[in-house]
Amino acid sequence: MKTSRRKFILSSSLLASFGSLSKIFAQEKTSTKPVVISTWNFGAAANVEAWKILSKDGRSLDAVEAGVQVPEGDPKETSVGLGGLPDRDGRVTLDACIMDEFSNCGAVACLEHIVHPISVARKVMEKTPHVLLVGDGALQFALANGFKKENLLTPESEKIWKEWLKKAEYKPIVNIENHDTIGMIALDASQNLSGACTTSGMAFKLHGRVGDSPIIGAGLFVDNEIGAATSTGVGEEVIRICGSHLVVELMRQGRSPQQACEQAVQRIVKNQPGKSKEMQVGFLALNKNGEIGAYALQKGFTYAVYSPEVPNTIFESKSYY
Ligand code: ASP
Repeated sequence: MKTSRRKFILSSSLLASFGSLSKIFAQEKTSTKPVVISTWNFGAAANVEAWKILSKDGRSLDAVEAGVQVPEGDPKETSVGLGGLPDRDGRVTLDACIMDEFSNCGAVACLEHIVHPISVARKVMEKTPHVLLVGDGALQFALANGFKKENLLTPESEKIWKEWLKKAEYKPIVNIENHDTIGMIALDASQNLSGACTTSGMAFKLHGRVGDSPIIGAGLFVDNEIGAATSTGVGEEVIRICGSHLVVELMRQGRSPQQACEQAVQRIVKNQPGKSKEMQVGFLALNKNGEIGAYALQKGFTYAVYSPEVPNTIFESKSYY
């Protein structure tokens, strides 16, 4: 998967600037609206969809929903939506959440059979008095709202799962392969922030396991006065520190997005000095001025930025280790 993603980047003319790695660490700031940022290499294709809305002065909420639908609907992406790697029982269970500039939010967890959990999360936000629906209840709600029931387990993902079953060892590998999430944050021309986060979670997890991605404050948090943050990696560690909320609160206290992401990662290291050496967690943040921060436990955490000054470019964050 890593190889195919890299190939995708190299073959895409949009991302021609990826080669200039020297720019990577310099780019922590952008001041012109609108801007969209998203986790991992697949964020670049997602940014293109979001940009179609943002560049026409559209709302950041619409942009992030449209953006993350791209990897959700791509059967070749084995960590989000259709084609996501299943749990240990062979069931593809999806987690997603969305949050807007008014602190409205909606989420679904352990949702099966629906290609676009982010849109179900948005419906939860807009049509119910609740924030989070899970499992069968979330599916029932999705079907009642016109979503189609589909088989999300592609032959490719089924093959990987069957191979895994031979040893059935649960061992998350640092940087993709059996985890990944798209977290996306956008600041629109009206200076409003929204975010979306969607994943199939850790591959081969226990059935019913929910990670950080659909948990408001863990996988995503938006405060329109201050900024927004999202996360990827081992969700349990992000939940333990309320990661995205922590990043936003650190920004409120005056830290730059970069400093805030670094301090959140350091908190995980403090909690888990040993374990943190072997796992990946990455944070991505954007403040109200369009400044960007990104930091991870391990090398290899990439994110994509699209703004008037940055033509949809993939950067690699700094890391603790
Ligand atoms: N954070 C996701 C989870 O724990 C997985 C990932 O981003 O790699 O479910």
